[in-house]
Amino acid sequence: MKASTILTPNGHHFFDWKEAGLRYYQYGFYLKNRFSARVQKVTLDGGFTCPNVDGTVAVGGCTFCDNRSFSPVRRTKRVPILQQLEQGITGLRHFYSKVDKFLAYFQPATNTYGSLEKLKRTFEPVLDDERIVGIVIGTRPDCVPDEVLDYLQELASKTYLSLEYGMQTIHNASLDWMNRGHHHDAFVDAMQRSQGRGMELCAHVILGLPGESDEQMLQTAEELARWKVDAVKIHNLYAVPGTKLAEQVERGEVELMQRDHFIQILVDFIERLPPHTIVERITGDAPANYFVGPSWCLDKAAVRNAVEHEFKQRDTYQGRLYHTVE
Ligand code: SF4
Repeated sequence: MKASTILTPNGHHFFDWKEAGLRYYQYGFYLKNRFSARVQKVTLDGGFTCPNVDGTVAVGGCTFCDNRSFSPVRRTKRVPILQQLEQGITGLRHFYSKVDKFLAYFQPATNTYGSLEKLKRTFEPVLDDERIVGIVIGTRPDCVPDEVLDYLQELASKTYLSLEYGMQTIHNASLDWMNRGHHHDAFVDAMQRSQGRGMELCAHVILGLPGESDEQMLQTAEELARWKVDAVKIHNLYAVPGTKLAEQVERGEVELMQRDHFIQILVDFIERLPPHTIVERITGDAPANYFVGPSWCLDKAAVRNAVEHEFKQRDTYQGRLYHTVE
């Protein structure tokens, strides 16, 4: 039976996850109710780069980043978008035979870092495919000029559109450490200009950044709550080969979070989020051959079980410590 629905503060659908016996607003539950179908994301590579890679704001990219580690489409030779779509759907159907609806997910790099013409050429062809029920666009908060947001708003009036901002943390010292090339004020500015345009707004967050205390990580949760974001993606800091972070871990300069600590902080974090914020991800995502550590986060099922266990043991739930900040 479809869960009951109301609208969120940003005007999106909310499905009552508590009614369904969940402890937090899980993404699978949301998708199933939102689209009345099984839906998977097919990842697509629009061939973009990032301003902290090409020298516009920095060089070298984020300290932890190798797009090949988190985006399958960057592990193969890039082919035209519609060909990627076919290949992606064929691959997903191999694993999920009952899935016939898909979200086109422009994942690697900064997918609004280009001319409007390029954005149109990249996004629009996939929307003609009837298997595609919406589009998800990953970007940075410093790469959304008004003309891009106007265009995305127009797209969002025609299809489901989720805009994913790499926020990572509210702490500027951490953003500097990761060579981000922008500070938290860029996220604030992007949120101010993005809200009310009919898009779902999602923020990416990393827990366990070097030097951040538990209290500082939870301040990031409180800031997300203040913005009433529609969705979050959370993971612990993990290292993949060939990155500056991998070298720092190797030299013992950076210590990666232990599993028990992560589980504790993650549940603390989710307790502070508004009940309507969809928790799209709670673990990192890298194949074993693109991975340095910590090894525990490769066993995603075990992490998810441990999180469930922690919620139950505390008898807590998402939003228990959410305080509305006007
Ligand atoms: S902005 Fe995103 S894709 Fe670009 S280098 Fe940083 S983490 Fe990687």
